[in-house]
This record gives sequence, structure tokens and C-alpha cells, in this order.
Amino acid sequence: MSASPSSPSPMAADVAVIGSGIVGLSTAHHLLDRGLSCVLIDAKGPAGETSFGNAGSISVGNVMPQSTPGIVTKALRMLANPLAPLKLDWGVSPSYARWLLQFLNQGRLQHVLPIIDALGAINTASRSAWLELGERIHASELIAHTGYLHVYSEEATFAKGEWERGLMRERGVVFDVLDAAQLRDLEPGIGSGFRRAVFQRESLAMRDPGAFCRRLFDDLVARGATSLIARVSGVARQGGGYRIDTDLGPVHAGRVVVAAGAWSNALLRPFGLKIPVIPARGYHLMYPQAQTVVRRPTLWAERYMVVSPMQEGIRMTSIKELTALGRDPHYALIRRLDPEARTLFPGIAGEPVSEWAGNRPCTPDSLPIIDRVPGEDVFVATGHGHLGLTQGPVTGKLLDQMMAGEATEIPLAPYALARFG
Ligand SMILES: Cc1cc2nc3c(=O)[nH]c(=O)nc-3n(C[C@H](O)[C@H](O)[C@H](O)COP(=O)(O)OP(=O)(O)OC[C@H]3O[C@@H](n4cnc5c(N)ncnc54)[C@H](O)[C@@H]3O)c2cc1C
Repeated sequence: MSASPSSPSPMAADVAVIGSGIVGLSTAHHLLDRGLSCVLIDAKGPAGETSFGNAGSISVGNVMPQSTPGIVTKALRMLANPLAPLKLDWGVSPSYARWLLQFLNQGRLQHVLPIIDALGAINTASRSAWLELGERIHASELIAHTGYLHVYSEEATFAKGEWERGLMRERGVVFDVLDAAQLRDLEPGIGSGFRRAVFQRESLAMRDPGAFCRRLFDDLVARGATSLIARVSGVARQGGGYRIDTDLGPVHAGRVVVAAGAWSNALLRPFGLKIPVIPARGYHLMYPQAQTVVRRPTLWAERYMVVSPMQEGIRMTSIKELTALGRDPHYALIRRLDPEARTLFPGIAGEPVSEWAGNRPCTPDSLPIIDRVPGEDVFVATGHGHLGLTQGPVTGKLLDQMMAGEATEIPLAPYALARFG
């Protein structure tokens, strides 16, 4: 069932899920399984924002946070290099200055080790959650068992990575270190300057994140969820539940899930919460289809650039631009990486056919927030940053278990609101 501007409001449901990205849709999937009625509210419809244009890597083995020891020097070097991924939108720097300090502080070793464990726990649980979801909605063909490849153009960067690889080995994270010949066997189209690689063979690859979200959305609607394509302006207690004000009228629900990605903060403010989630904007360029160029998502470690084979073509993603919501994208940042994409995979032919920008919802500690607002029947699932595609389905499962008062598949303490004080 879908509401249009002409259909009468108010709507009512057991749960209102705000945000139809991979996180909100996955949550609704589990809530429906419990027999709860859901209304899915999104200003843009399914995967209208960040869940559409990501690199498609279900990166089970990516357990390192964004901030690690030495981050200050690393960040300063990146800011001085026009081809490096880190960019600051200086015009709005006061809006993320505090977040940036928290982020740099999280890079200290005593913080990093527990964060790695918490990323490891949620990423490990993500793999089966993805495979189960794919089967349930008959979309398994969009999930490829290709693994995820990290390649290096500089020996020094690869050598420095040994510290990370040691921590990953200690924790049983599965990966293989490849020499030049093994790399070429796996990706025959890789550029000649790449001689070192780390292969996460348990990672999966999503061939079209936008199409998967739309399939999931269609499945939810077929199972009885109501969809409202509308912007939420506020959430307030009313009677025994909540009134969600939208530009198409109010919706009433017993419980509310805020899964609005980088936009979640505004919706939580009425409950006295301010979560440290800022948009770190990333971009993509799409190239025409060429089946043989690249077989799996491949990250160029020095550039933080990923080239991925998608159903519709080859996708190159990069850039982490700290910014504020509503700022115009700077597409020049991704366009100037076009020659770099062809260095990584010289077989990329033709001009880019489209470009895109999306806001990663980033916390300072690189961990998501999966929790209940104290004293309310309002639940939060956001802050998945660079790994929201990976962690979306398992987040839905975990939040549903929390909402049902059940023991959760993994302990949720590392993802609690309370960690921000
Ligand atoms: C370039 C790039 C590459 C990436 N690559 C990967 C990758 O390879 N692997 C990986 O795991 N992750 C990746 N990510 C991260 C991942 O895409 C995100 O973490 C994830 O999509 C976040 O999902 P979400 O559902 O929380 O948010 P979103 O997909 O942004 O969904 C939030 C939704 O809330 C809606 N909304 C917001 N406010 C309101 C409101 N007031 N009223 C109504 N609706 C509202 C929006 O319209 C939106 O649809 C990448 C991100 C980028 C930018």
C-alpha cells in the first residue's frame, strides 16, 4: 500500500520507521516478521540517498576504524595532497570542529582496540544476515561471493599496514596476503603498478545497492507495510504513542525507529539528544559496462578509491569530505580522480556516464548507534559511516531483537548512546 498526496491522513501503525535506506528497510523487514504493522516514511523513497550509490562492498573483514594511532600526521598529509581522499568543507568547519577533535581522540590505542573488537563482532554477524536477507526476498543474484581486494601502489604503505594485519590476525579476521602473481590471477585487469594486495575472501559484493533496496522495499510493501514518501518535520509524544509530523500530514505510531542516516540528529532533538553524527560525503563516477575489466570491489589503499563491478557498469567511489547537510556537492573532487581509476584498471574505457554524491553518517569512533532513547519508545539506528551497507541487515535484526526485549545476537553495549556521555 502506498500513500499519495491525495490519500487521506492520518495513518497509524505499530511502528513508524523513518528512513528507507538499507538500515531502515532491514529493520522493517524484521518488525514485519514479528507481526507488527509498519509505516515506512522517507522523503525520497527507498535508497534515495546514501544507500544508493556506495561501493557495494559487504566488507566483513574491514574491522579497522577510520581513526587509528598516527591519524593526525596522516590527516595532515592527506589534506596537502589534492588526490588524497580526505577533504574539509572549510565554509562549515565550525559545525564539525568538535566532532573532528573527538575523532582524533578516538585514534589513541586504548580506544582503538575495543573498537576493532566491536567492528569485528558486528561485521562477522553481517555476512549471514546479508545472505539470509538475499534469500528471503529472492535477490541472492545481486550478492556476489567475490571477496574484497585491497591493493597497494607503494611498498611503504603496505609495510606500514603490518601493524593492522597483526591485530587482525590476533582476532582471527580472515584475509590472505597476495604477491604480484597471485594478485594478477585474481584481477587480471589490474594496473601494472600494483604488486601487493590483501584479499578478504569472506566479504561479499552487492551488484546494485539501489536495486537491492528497491526489491526489499517492494517485498515489505507486498507484506503489508505502508509507504509514505514524505519529509518528517518532527516527532512528538501523543497519547500512548507518537505523532510524526510530515509534509503529507501526521502519522501515529506506538513506536518510532529513527534510521534517517546523516539526517537523524534533527529528529532526535525533541528528546534532548544530540548525537555526534556528521556527514562525510563520498562520491561516485559510473563508467559504461565492461564485464572483463574488474571482477570484485578493489580498493586502492593509498587513494581510498574503490572500483567495483556493478550491474549497470563500473563504479568508482572515493572522497571523505567532512561537510554539513544541505551543502552543494563538489563533483570536481571525484572527476579529477578519473585518470587514477584508469591507473587502477587500465581497461576502463569511455567517459563517465553519471556522477553521484552521498552522505555517510559518521560517528567519531566509527561504530554505529543501535539503541533506545532513554525513557522513550523511540529507537535509533544510525552512524554506520563507511560500513552501513555491510552492517545494515544485521542492524535491523539487532534492533528488532532489542525492541522485542530478547537477548541480542551480539552484545549491543559498544553501540549504545551512553558511550557519548
Ligand atoms: C561513496 C560511498 C561509498 C560507500 N561504500 C560502502 C561500501 O562499499 N560498503 C559499505 O558497507 N558501506 C559503504 N558506504 C556507506 C553506506 O552507503 C552508508 O553507511 C549507508 O548507506 C547508510 O545507510 P542508512 O540507511 O543509514 O542511510 P541512508 O541510505 O542515507 O538513508 C537515510 C534515509 O533517511 C531519509 N530521511 C532523512 N531525513 C528524513 C526526514 N526528515 N524525513 C523523511 N526521510 C528522511 C533519507 O531520504 C534517506 O533515504 C559508502 C558510502 C559512500 C558515500
